[in-house]
This record gives sequence, structure tokens and C-alpha cells, in this order.
Amino acid sequence: MELDWSKLGFSYLETHCHIRYMWRDGRWNEGELVNEPYLNIHIGATALHYGQAAFEGLKVFRGKDGVPRAFRPLENARRLNRSARRSCMAEVPEDLFMDAVRRVVKANMDFVPPYGTGASLYVRPLLIGTGERIGVNAADEYAFIVLVIPVGAYYKGGLQPVRALVMDDYDRAAPHGTGTVKLGGNYGASLLPHKLAHDKGFPIDLYLDAAEHKYIDEFGTSNFIAIDGKGAFVTPMSTSVLPSVTNDGLRTVAKDLGMAVEVRPVLFEEIATFAEIGACGTAVVLTPVNEIVRGDRVIKVGPREGCGPVLQNLYNNYTAIQWGNAPDRYGWLVEI
Ligand SMILES: *Cc1c(COP(=O)(O)O)cnc(C)c1O
Repeated sequence: MELDWSKLGFSYLETHCHIRYMWRDGRWNEGELVNEPYLNIHIGATALHYGQAAFEGLKVFRGKDGVPRAFRPLENARRLNRSARRSCMAEVPEDLFMDAVRRVVKANMDFVPPYGTGASLYVRPLLIGTGERIGVNAADEYAFIVLVIPVGAYYKGGLQPVRALVMDDYDRAAPHGTGTVKLGGNYGASLLPHKLAHDKGFPIDLYLDAAEHKYIDEFGTSNFIAIDGKGAFVTPMSTSVLPSVTNDGLRTVAKDLGMAVEVRPVLFEEIATFAEIGACGTAVVLTPVNEIVRGDRVIKVGPREGCGPVLQNLYNNYTAIQWGNAPDRYGWLVEI
């Protein structure tokens, strides 16, 4: 494979194949590896008209021993099924999900970046309604697809802090809406506010609870985490936040390091009291946030340059597990 691993970013790149399973007559088929990155579906497919579409994201890391390992794939299987239930799609049995990940990674083994490059293989499962329904209803046919893309080390020169803009004119998810599941529609709704924030020079957008704009929900595509004045790990409890696998893992690592962990409603007004703030998700693990802007208010948090010491330590410990350089105490790594 003539790929320059150091030049990889986070964007689509053609690999050998993806894997595709179809659900018809109430059951999933055997699945097949497909070379062409195209899907031929009915123009009345519910994914196109009514948003029956959910996705996932996880990574495969090649360890020092050369063995590729998927990081907590079962968590993604379970979350995909929560998304499926919320939008009335066929569920994907956990063993089928795991089999799909294994088969597609094995078929694209030479796209799994070598250890030491910081690059990894991003795995993107997708579940969509492909059956035709013009009357608003759940489809009777679904496709479960898993594609893979080699992605680069996000931080080439250490963790770099960013500014975030509070979106007061837009909400990401309603309290009893679909914010807790990973539906494509959530992203469709966030594209415009994300673009507006980006055009003003903010790489990330922060959303407050839709009912009152008093509590913190999360960033557009990543969870909100903070270290408070006493050194505790704090993250919002909310009925409209997507339960991030990264957030869950960082909390576990924090507890293992002897830190207090608080999952509770977090007032926007508390931001000024936090020592460090971060955005977390699979793609980058953790991005330090050193400035939060809401209208005319500018709130500065943590060091101006680089990452605060507590989040940096969490990041180091977490990524050490991913690369197989620290004990895998919870069985998070699944050999391919
Ligand atoms: C996927 C996602 C995250 C991050 O979740 P991870 O499982 O850590 O990748 C955070 N917020 C939203 C809205 C998401 O869709």
C-alpha cells in the first residue's frame, strides 16, 4: 500500500471494499463485501424521505505487536440498536455487528496504519431504511453497511486548544427528542449553526438545554467535559446529550486515577469556575477548549497554549490503552 500515513486527515478515502447486509422478510442476509462505493436503492427509500438513518463511529488501532484491535465495538453495537429502536428500524444483532467489523477490517488489512504513525482505521457503521414508503411509516427493508477509512493522527504537535461559540439562536436537540441517539437527522439540523459558528472563526459550537438555555448540553459533535476547581471530572447529565463512548471511557480512566467524577446537570454559569474544559469524541479523543463566547461575553478557561494538565493526563492514559501500551483492564480492545 503506497499511502503516506503522515498525510492522512479525517476525510473519505477509497479502500478495497465495504461490507453490506440487507434485511428483508424480517431477517438479515449473510452480508457481502462490495468493491463499488455506491448503493442502488429505491427512490422512495425511507432514509431519503423520512430520515430513517443512524450511524456509528469507532476506531481500530494497530498495536506494537502489529495486531489490529477494535476499541469498544460492542458499545457502538448497543448504541446503534438504541438508535434503531428510536426510529423503528430493524436492529442489528451484536454478533452480526462484530462479525461485520471483523470481516471488513480483514478485507482492508493493508489500510490499517502501522503502529507509531498515530494514524488508525476509522470504522463507520451505517443503518438505513432502503424500503419504499411514501405514507409516513417504517420501511420493510434495511441496509447495514460498514465502511472503513484510514485517518491521520489528529494532533501532530500536541493537543491544541480551540474557542467555542454558544449557540443561543439554535438548539441541537429537544429534551425528549432524538439527541440521545445517533441519527443522521440530528446532524442535518446542526449543519447551519455549525457553519455560522465556523464562519465567525469558531471551530466548535456549544449547545445549551433547549428548554431554558440554562444548562450545558454538549458541543455540536462532541460531549462537554470539565475539570472543576477541586479537580473533579464533571460532565452534563441531560435528556438530550448523546452518550459518548469516549466520555464514558475517560470517566473510567479518571476514577482509576483516583479522581472524583460527577455526572449531573451543569449550569452555564459554572463555566467560569472550571479549571479546564474539553470536547470529547472518537475522532480526536479530546480537544481542549480555552475560550467560550456567548454574545458579548468571553469566558477564558485553562492555559492559553496547549492543554491543561489534568485533561492531558487523562488523554495520555486513555490513548495508552487504545494503542495497547497500558493494561486493558476492562477488555476494551477486541482483536481483529
Ligand atoms: C458521536 C457523537 C459524540 C461522540 O461520541 P463517541 O462515542 O465518543 O464518538 C458526541 N456527540 C454527538 C452529538 C455525537 O453524535
